[in-house]
Amino acid sequence: MTLTVQSLGGTRYRVTDPAGSGQPHVVDLAGPTCDCPDFAFRGRLRPCKHGRAAVAFRESDPQGGLLDALSDKDTLDVIDPPPHSRGLEAPDPEAVAIADVALALWRRELRDHKRSATTFDALWVAACATMWAREAQGTPHLAARWYAMARAVIERETAA
Ligand SMILES: [Zn+2]
Repeated sequence: MTLTVQSLGGTRYRVTDPAGSGQPHVVDLAGPTCDCPDFAFRGRLRPCKHGRAAVAFRESDPQGGLLDALSDKDTLDVIDPPPHSRGLEAPDPEAVAIADVALALWRRELRDHKRSATTFDALWVAACATMWAREAQGTPHLAARWYAMARAVIERETAA
């Protein structure tokens, strides 16, 4: 399966999968974002094939890193961590602590009938992310991302 990638300038790429829908999708590595349904569903937590193809295309160009202001740390790690870092990355203890509190709080509110299981708010998102993180314990870099999401949701909510 070969996806075709065209640079649209800056951090934007047009990616087409001839073996898929054949419809071109626009990836912006600055987000990162993609306009495909897969990205809309999974967000930036797991890259869609267009995002991965755009990153591979960009990495294959030795000048790529100079063409825009994106650093590896800021962008490429977010989209798809390099294989050599996967075994090393572990959940941040502070994020785990915040996530655990969020899940405990969600469970208490549910028990106290302050919410239903389908009250979809920030705390619900954080609780879900925490449960997914726990399920991903065997894959530390993945667990780390779910914990980070739970923390980000809670911090954004408490800052508002
Ligand atoms: Zn996509």
